Amino acid sequence: MKLVFATNNLNKLKEVQEMLPQSIQLLSLKDINYFNEVEETAITLEGNAKLKANDITIKFGFNCFADDTGLEVASLDGKPGVYSARFAGEPSNSENNMQKLLLELENKKTRKAQFRTAICLNIDKNQYIFEGICKGEILKEKQGEKGFGYDPIFKPEGFHQSFAEMSAEEKNKISHRGIAIQKLVRFLKNYK
Ligand code: IMP
Repeated sequence: MKLVFATNNLNKLKEVQEMLPQSIQLLSLKDINYFNEVEETAITLEGNAKLKANDITIKFGFNCFADDTGLEVASLDGKPGVYSARFAGEPSNSENNMQKLLLELENKKTRKAQFRTAICLNIDKNQYIFEGICKGEILKEKQGEKGFGYDPIFKPEGFHQSFAEMSAEEKNKISHRGIAIQKLVRFLKNYK
């Protein structure tokens, strides 16, 4: 079966392909010659994942899945959430996003937070949502050089390192996206 992953991120694509049985051939947006960026206008992660997956299924008829991720901070009522990429404004800038978050948390009692990923899968006219959550806390300052986005200031529960101090392999095992992808892969392996 051919399945489109509505992403331009080839690292994400490779990671998922390696977890899937060979009977499922993953295609990127480039593979289907589609270069349009869907505007993420929904107010939830699930909503944005649906927008991106539906765009492909409606235009091309392909089975398709898309993901969307946000960092939800307890003392900020779940912000930046669906707006994580542009928390400090556009264009998206991770350094500015982290500085803004550290500033907003300066006088807060709790620094609890979670990353949450929603994946929307459109397959044979049905739609499924998979969710992955990684709980943790926002550090007082940046730690580590690896990863991307908010990784240097996020410490997952039960660990002493930030995400930015972990290898990609270590992070994938426990991360929001890793967990959501594992659920998707389990579903696809048992499909039909
Ligand atoms: P996306 O939905 O994967 O594009 O993620 C939206 C935004 O959330 C990104 O621009 C990052 O700022 C942040 N983000 C998503 N996943 C991660 C992660 O694993 N670590 C750190 N930041 C992340």
